[in-house]
Amino acid sequence: MARLFEDADTAEAAPADGPAVAAVGIAVAAGVWSTYDYLYPSELGTPAVGQRVRVPFGRGSRKLLGVVVDAQRLSTRGDKLKAVVEVLDARPMFDQSMLALGEWISEYYLTPLGMVLSAMVPSAVGRHAEKSETVAFLAAERHDWPSRLGGRQKRVLDELLEARKQGIEPLTLEGLMHHSGASRDTIKRLAGRELIRLASRPVTLESLGDEPEPDPFDLNADQQAVMDALAPKLAGGFSATVLHGVTGSGKTEVYIRAIRRVTQVGKQAVLLVPEIALATQTLQRLLKRLPRVAVMHSGLTDAQRAFYWQQIRDGEASVVVGPRSAVFAPTPKLGLIIVDEENEPTYKQDTAPRYHGRDVAVKRASLAGVPVILGSATPSLESLHNVQLGRYDCLRLPRRVQGLPLPTLEIVHLRREIQPGRVELIGKTLAHKMAAALDRREQIILLMNRRGYASYVFCPSCKWEMKCESCSRAMVFHQATQLVMCHYCNRTAALPEHCIACGGKLLLFGLGIQRIEGELARKFPAARVARMDSDTMTSPRQFRKVFDDFSAGELDILLGTQMVGKGLDFPRVSLVGVVSADTSLTIPDFRASERTFQLIVQVAGRAGRADTRGDVVVQTLHADEPAVQLAARHDYDGFAEIEMSQRQEALLPPFTRMVRFIVRHNQQLKAEAAARELAGRLGRLLAPVGVAMMGPAPADIPKIRDQFRFSILLTAQRAGAVQQVVGGRMAALLRDVHAEVIADVDPVNLL
Ligand code: ADP
Ligand code: ZN
Ligand code: ZN
Repeated sequence: MARLFEDADTAEAAPADGPAVAAVGIAVAAGVWSTYDYLYPSELGTPAVGQRVRVPFGRGSRKLLGVVVDAQRLSTRGDKLKAVVEVLDARPMFDQSMLALGEWISEYYLTPLGMVLSAMVPSAVGRHAEKSETVAFLAAERHDWPSRLGGRQKRVLDELLEARKQGIEPLTLEGLMHHSGASRDTIKRLAGRELIRLASRPVTLESLGDEPEPDPFDLNADQQAVMDALAPKLAGGFSATVLHGVTGSGKTEVYIRAIRRVTQVGKQAVLLVPEIALATQTLQRLLKRLPRVAVMHSGLTDAQRAFYWQQIRDGEASVVVGPRSAVFAPTPKLGLIIVDEENEPTYKQDTAPRYHGRDVAVKRASLAGVPVILGSATPSLESLHNVQLGRYDCLRLPRRVQGLPLPTLEIVHLRREIQPGRVELIGKTLAHKMAAALDRREQIILLMNRRGYASYVFCPSCKWEMKCESCSRAMVFHQATQLVMCHYCNRTAALPEHCIACGGKLLLFGLGIQRIEGELARKFPAARVARMDSDTMTSPRQFRKVFDDFSAGELDILLGTQMVGKGLDFPRVSLVGVVSADTSLTIPDFRASERTFQLIVQVAGRAGRADTRGDVVVQTLHADEPAVQLAARHDYDGFAEIEMSQRQEALLPPFTRMVRFIVRHNQQLKAEAAARELAGRLGRLLAPVGVAMMGPAPADIPKIRDQFRFSILLTAQRAGAVQQVVGGRMAALLRDVHAEVIADVDPVNLL
């Protein structure tokens, strides 16, 4: 196997003379740019490419994970070589095609191979060979609990009581420890006092059912046309198809039937979904209708995860459903990959390897020679571009099923609706409709877009808004720096204490969800409100609870961040309110308009899914933004046309490709010096091939957790241009750069 990164001057790779001995080449899970030779003691068996092993590494001989990438190397440094200490997989974890995928990710995302490979397999796999796990039952009724209990003990009992109410008792010991914060000993002591009971049970795949339910209905004409077009692709061979279907057009139904086509002939399918969709009805539907589904969600215990992985490898699981990491599911008989809501930014991983789940899915499909389907109500402009270039096909579901209308969207100019002197986020139109919906006992979803780490500076008394003197665009308050900033010219200013126009109290508009909670309590004291955001929803179980209560009609208003916009299907929701569409328009990111558009369309799709007619109210201070206007008309094509031509003119993706380097250090001067050094080297390499460079400059969030951040942004005319030039030279590029350097290829988050 070819070596990916030449790094000739590290100690392990230094040339030395001696008789050639048998060795293996190992990609070590560390930030190093070459593979290393190790001895493979014969008592460990025969080395095989793709095995995971543990090896001593570096001066301290720390034991690190590694993967055998070359089983038959000859080394002339036999006496200096270290030896493999442990073999984790008797049978190789990676086959040739997964290794090839790992190598592609390593090269394309500028990440050391060992780090990529170790990230492709859940760390629990291999460690948890045992087939049983410990579970806990509640053993004492509430009124029998002793009055004196420690906080953690109480929480353990509460968790179990809650689980019993929800009908999901017993809980695994591991899950219980995680959610209650209690230690294993604390839980065992509760068992000793007979307040709970512990038992051992075999690990099972709850979702691996064998007999799927029959189809509840026939496909409609649009769906049938899509299936007809997909049929030849599903027979095999690589193809990439964008399935562009409006919300509620029956895409999921198409996924189900496409997956069944391949499972019927004994192949496996992988369905990637945004993490949050794993707690919704959509998933229940998939489980009922598909055979032998393994769901990889974040609530799995290590044992379950390891067991599922094994079932997938053995071909026992026919379908894998999971978030972006499920793209690495080791299916030996892969027949189809589907990426649902392919435009979701959460498919991009924000730690190394910084891969994009959708793009890796397409690469994997092409390496494996299988079809990939990218579904969305609002396809990313990247995917649209690939359709326009003829690389991907596009199939459409332009209508909602059963003739349901798309919900009507009403754009509300918030500025006209807020009463002078009142600090309010819900204007009168929205408040009015909410009151009416509550009267009719219908449900409401309110969305507060919190991507906005930043907010407008706005005076509710006189409607004054702080604007940039040079650009006359809205200035935005940054929490990170506590300064007000213009996102067009980067001018910064201090936050004024009072309104410049009238001296009134200023409002930081967009600052968060708690403020709305208070307002709701004042305006609709009788309404039952639940909040759903990443602060309140720290476990899938909490999500489930709110979700179940809302489904059961025990809540009236669901208030959330964009989380709420995804994959939920509540028939009794008749009103969706977007409290502020603006925060996403003001983030300093060229995809801000696209995000706003996607968000509004997606949220609107939550309303009027069944017979209740859906109403959507979008509040904004910038009602004239095309993204807002076009989303209101469900006009994807119109939006795409405008946005595409602007991107093309500005030489932005998808017409170009970006690679971003972030250089971090806790001393500003050192961070800056390192960034200069790196930029100089990159410039010398890349200017001759026409790659443009911006920076180094302080990042938009210049300091995070006391680390100063500098950004270098490279823009290339075509994919892979930067990688081709710097890929093999990373070690040299980073030598003597005394700061942490992060490479982010096709960055999604530009802050
Ligand atoms: P999407 O994934 O495009 O938002 P879904 O597949 O969730 O749409 O379909 C929306 C609703 O319509 C679901 O409740 C689904 O059961 C129903 N549905 C889908 N296809 C049909 C059909 N052909 N006939 C009747 N109902 C359908
Ligand atoms: Zn400005
Ligand atoms: Zn004022």
